[in-house]
Amino acid sequence: MIKIQIMNEHLANKIAAGEVVEKCASVVKELVENSIDAGSTSIKIELIEAGTKEIKVIDNGVGMHREDAILAFSRHATSKILDEDDLYAIQSLGFRGEALPSIAAVSDIILKTSTGDIGTLIYMRAGKIVSNEKTDSRVGTEVTVQNLFYNTPARLKHLRSLAYELANATDYVNKMALSYPNIKFSLSNNGKVLLNTDGSNNLLKVINEIYGLEVTKKMIEIKGSNDDYDISGYISYPEITKSNRHHMVIIVNGRVVRNVELNKIINDAYYTYKPNDRYPIIILNIDVDPSLVDVNIHPTKLDVKFSKMVSLKSLLLNVIKEQLEATTLIPSVTIKKEAVSYETMTFNLERNPSDEVDLAIYEQLTTYDNDNSIPSVKKEEKLPELYPVGLIHGTYIVCQNDLGMYLIDQHAANERINYEIYKNELSKTNHETIAMLIPLTIEMPSSDYIILKDKMAILQSLNFDVIDMGINTITIKAHPLWLPPGYEDTAIKKIIDIIIDKEDFNMEKFNEKVAITLSCKLAVKANESLSVKEMETIINRLRTCHNPYTCPHGRPTIIHYSKYELEKLFKRVM
Ligand code: ZN
Ligand code: ZN
Repeated sequence: MIKIQIMNEHLANKIAAGEVVEKCASVVKELVENSIDAGSTSIKIELIEAGTKEIKVIDNGVGMHREDAILAFSRHATSKILDEDDLYAIQSLGFRGEALPSIAAVSDIILKTSTGDIGTLIYMRAGKIVSNEKTDSRVGTEVTVQNLFYNTPARLKHLRSLAYELANATDYVNKMALSYPNIKFSLSNNGKVLLNTDGSNNLLKVINEIYGLEVTKKMIEIKGSNDDYDISGYISYPEITKSNRHHMVIIVNGRVVRNVELNKIINDAYYTYKPNDRYPIIILNIDVDPSLVDVNIHPTKLDVKFSKMVSLKSLLLNVIKEQLEATTLIPSVTIKKEAVSYETMTFNLERNPSDEVDLAIYEQLTTYDNDNSIPSVKKEEKLPELYPVGLIHGTYIVCQNDLGMYLIDQHAANERINYEIYKNELSKTNHETIAMLIPLTIEMPSSDYIILKDKMAILQSLNFDVIDMGINTITIKAHPLWLPPGYEDTAIKKIIDIIIDKEDFNMEKFNEKVAITLSCKLAVKANESLSVKEMETIINRLRTCHNPYTCPHGRPTIIHYSKYELEKLFKRVM
């Protein structure tokens, strides 16, 4: 049976229009996707000089018959799409039948394949078959692409540095390994192994292979579903962040896709848990009826749109927030040598042999919450009891309990406490008010005054009693009760600044801004000495916070040195 058919010219051209084979990674991508479509459970990728000299992909898929193998390299051959409708309902990965001939046209190719019968061995040069022989019958396909772009110097010149080419190929294979934990992937460059997964369908193991044990220990499993969507995967502790979004991997029905909106939702779910310009590591699997997904085909990435985005958004937000809230997130100081991070790895092109992790540890990993959780913590209290010992650098409160030593950043902690108070107060629609003993008169530049006059209703809606005195002056006679006693004037001026500042006014954003600004402005500063009583107050109020781990800017409030780590540092234990 011949599986590969020639697709019609119109469709081929349509696909060819967006078709680009411009990087070594795009060749790797085409070959690997063909291997996946062939039902492989093991895919081996061997690069020489980042793929510029040679890219070899060996799989154990179904293999091709001789006729198919020859046809595979002719223009517009595809086994996957036969008419335009299929283009929009693609289930298989390698939907661009154009790719193999395009690659063949600019390289030397050796194709070895067998379905179990006598195998086929084809040599091609610049898209022409040079020889066609019989070979052994190992089931599967082995494609070797050599001297990529040798006959198109312009494109060859277009290739970036070897490091860049390799980083791209590695990034792609890593993402495929994350999408298909059931497939054994191995990737090497010049004989050096860069990735080696075991195909055991354990996503956490793949994460460990890519990111190392230290990160893997700080991944939280997520799972949830509603009428339209099933989601699952892993999210990182907020302390584990990256400088870009490359490590937010979204997999829809088994395929890595791009969706800017989902990235934003994930980022929102981490709001105030991490700095806004840092991004978590996320492996998110979304299962959905394909009819709810609109796939926009682009040669190098898959953009998707979801027709029930609201439903997906609320599911995702709830599941991530719930998991973050349910997890004890005090960063621990560990003296263990840091695992080589993925970023270092791709740019050094080096990788330490991954920590050997046996299954017992994996079981531990998946239930690590328990060995991190502290017996004395009640459900609603996220921090254990802490006893202040003293203050260092006028900034960090040193505390202790049976579990070890803790450092609390007094400013960050106070910010978090204030933030939760103001956030709560601002969310109320009915603010109790209090008359000022001495009305506060504020004079401002006329430019500010004009804007404020226009936005006076905002101040009034917050229950400020404002009188417009004319001549660039207003007087506040009463203010909402929640303003911090003793700092009313500062708070009022800050709020007015924010009102004047905001271009287009949005109540939610305004409240957020006020809460964060006031929380910082009115928090105890660094280099301010605190009495033990004041330290206790901060600690106890921090303990009742909804999220006591980070300040509203996403910086940590508390760090833990476990008793064990301290003993290790002093070599009392080895
Ligand atoms: Zn601050
Ligand atoms: Zn802060």
